[in-house]
Amino acid sequence: MPTPTKTRPPAETGSSRRTWVLYGLLGVFAVLYFARPTTAAATIPYSELKQKLEAGQVGEVELSKEHIRALPSDEPARKRGEKWLVNRVEDPELVKLLDAKHVKYRGMQEGDWFGSLFMVWLLPMLLLGGFWMLVLRRMKPGPGMMAIGRSKAKLVAEEGTGVTFKDVAGVDEAVDELREIVDFLSNPAKFHALGARIPKGVILVGPPGTGKTLLARAVAGEAKVPFFSLTGSDFVEMFVGVGAARVRDLFMQAQAKAPCIVFIDELDAVGKARGSGNMAGHDEREQTLNQLLAEMDGFDAKKGLMIMAATNRPEILDSALMRPGRFDRQVLVDRPDVKGRQAILQVHAHGVKFGADVSLPRVASLTPGMSGADLANLINEAALLAARRGREEVGQAEINEAIERTLAGLEKKGRCMNLREKEIVAHHESGHALLAEILPTTDRVHKVSMIPRGFGALGYTMQVPLEDRYLMTRPELLDKLTVLMGGRAAEKVIFNEVSTGATDDLQRATDLARRMVTQFGMSAALGPQSVAHLDGSSEGRFLPGISLGGEKGYSERTQQIIDGEVGELLRRSHERAIGLLEHNRTQLLELAARLREKEVLEGSELAAILEGAHLPPELEGGDELQWSIMRH
Ligand code: ADP
Ligand code: MG
Ligand code: ZN
Repeated sequence: MPTPTKTRPPAETGSSRRTWVLYGLLGVFAVLYFARPTTAAATIPYSELKQKLEAGQVGEVELSKEHIRALPSDEPARKRGEKWLVNRVEDPELVKLLDAKHVKYRGMQEGDWFGSLFMVWLLPMLLLGGFWMLVLRRMKPGPGMMAIGRSKAKLVAEEGTGVTFKDVAGVDEAVDELREIVDFLSNPAKFHALGARIPKGVILVGPPGTGKTLLARAVAGEAKVPFFSLTGSDFVEMFVGVGAARVRDLFMQAQAKAPCIVFIDELDAVGKARGSGNMAGHDEREQTLNQLLAEMDGFDAKKGLMIMAATNRPEILDSALMRPGRFDRQVLVDRPDVKGRQAILQVHAHGVKFGADVSLPRVASLTPGMSGADLANLINEAALLAARRGREEVGQAEINEAIERTLAGLEKKGRCMNLREKEIVAHHESGHALLAEILPTTDRVHKVSMIPRGFGALGYTMQVPLEDRYLMTRPELLDKLTVLMGGRAAEKVIFNEVSTGATDDLQRATDLARRMVTQFGMSAALGPQSVAHLDGSSEGRFLPGISLGGEKGYSERTQQIIDGEVGELLRRSHERAIGLLEHNRTQLLELAARLREKEVLEGSELAAILEGAHLPPELEGGDELQWSIMRH
């Protein structure tokens, strides 16, 4: 029997209390059953009773069909509660004997009918039943057997959530993308008439507490459609097949209610890539996922059924979920920037009385890295503090204390940067941005940000290509490599040390360099040949760098040359990045300072700061000549 794979803390406490009550009742019943008074009377043989009758020792007799109960005539013995029980023997002489001895006798209904029924039948059955329930309970926390195959009561659709986009702040880009979905849900016929293809599924991706659940509810509220909501873990039950049945049930109910929204929160609980589990128990999850995929393919989007989902771990989702016709629309819900935080604070400040000294913009600037949920929490904390201190209004003192508490909590969880980390990130991103701006062939910088993104990166530099590119030349690729190295190089130039923040950059740079050597024939040592794997990729298909039994197609020696060339490209790019940043140290420092202050810089602001940045001729191009000059 597989063991339960999940626990549900809130339900657990309630049901464990019930379990204890059950144990208690069982114990009481068991005691009752085994210790029941097996009649206080002494059982004697019929012959003995007869002797006693003859001897005049019997004072009174009760006759029933099967028993005779006799009380002694002796008064003290009777007081002691002495009595005899006899199994009745067919004896026509008995009544005569009783009459002769003047013994009082009367007929009696057979035993204590109800009592014996209870003792002999009901009690054992209760015991068994109770035991069975205990066993079931241990096997499966949560609702009793009856719930199998039926979705939870929660599956009742909410008619209009009452939440609107006004309740969600600081995530304007996501809201803009979702407006289209609202339009569609409020008038599916219009879209259908135009022949527009509507996405079937939208997945909201972003770190915890950024308002994904809130946004989904807001879409339902704006479109005024019913909202079915389930959490991924609701599907994953212990009994195989239950999750799949739930999915079927869910889609059936939802289709009957269309237009409506089905929202699966924390999709990663069901949507983890298939085959990633390590135990047999994961069959259940895979079945559920397969059913979900099948239902998403099957339903008719024209009726206005929209599937929404949320996750903060998109990287573990099964790629099949993202195929066209499923969750083909992905909306990023990121942590808010200063302006966003201010807007969120304003939403949550509604109804809270603030003192005159409180400035929400200032609070916003003090809380980088906090999510919407953190900010909501912060205001609540400040209000509680003020109440505890008997204040009429929430003052800046309470707010500051709440900020400190929240920050401390976040730092402990590793979700918030401390000052030193912020400095490093500001310079790292500035390094990327500066190089991207001054190198002639690279894409212009659209935006630099040092707001932690959800997935590992602490900041980001966004470049937009000026035109669609189909071919890239070697100098362009070398510039690209240099920009990738810019973050790490800036850390080295300014702090003379490097952090772990460049992991992703290095990964991407290494991939690119490897492709330049093995696929693009851009290495002098290897010459113009492709040494990619026979399946077309230079790497193993499943794990980068490891070929799974595939033909390698080249020799050990070639492998060594490849490794040498890749290493050389990376090293040179790094050195070039360092050289360029050293030449433009002033601009780098200024850029980092501005970024630190504003957290996000647009392309135009960046250009203004980098006015004086220059490209020394010896580091200008990426061609072989200059490479060697740089290396002296
Ligand atoms: P997620 O689902 O992304 O983890 P939630 O939607 O559950 O986050 O957010 C939790 C709470 O935090 C919300 O109910 C809301 O009060 C607050 N919150 C989060 N993000 C925002 C936001 N962008 N605007 C306003 N409030 C927000
Ligand atoms: Mg959520
Ligand atoms: Zn970087």
